[in-house]
Amino acid sequence: MYRKKAEFRKDSVKPYVDSVITFEELQALFDSRDIDITSLDEDLLDNASYYGRIFARSGGLSDAVREALMEQKIDFELKPVTCDGIEACRVALLKASKNVLDGNFIKGMECTGGCIGGAGCLTHGEKNKTEVDKYGMEAYYTKLTNESGYY
Ligand code: SF4
Repeated sequence: MYRKKAEFRKDSVKPYVDSVITFEELQALFDSRDIDITSLDEDLLDNASYYGRIFARSGGLSDAVREALMEQKIDFELKPVTCDGIEACRVALLKASKNVLDGNFIKGMECTGGCIGGAGCLTHGEKNKTEVDKYGMEAYYTKLTNESGYY
């Protein structure tokens, strides 16, 4: 998340992103207004695909890239190397630099388990990955693209 705070300041990204906040900061915002979101009615949030919902866990983005290649009928044999945690990322990059990486795509997430293990998250429970996958499975859209673009 903190990397994303730096990324959104880049000239190439600035026009598309208004702000980046962590879940911790979002909670602080609610707390400062005495808003207890657990007491509020739930609304339907159905505008993100399965792949849009699972990116926060390790392996989610690789799954989305595989799906994008398939949906766009791009003939490319994706062999992803999914790593989480600084050490795993370091090893993958080192292998790539020595041409001994068993893959052609590295998706490295600095935090253990992916963003769900990030410093700005409110929980770091064992069940977080399962919860993310469950949330993904509830998505109305199962494809990445539709007639109006990406989800
Ligand atoms: S894996 Fe960690 S550092 Fe990387 S974007 Fe997610 S929260 Fe940020």
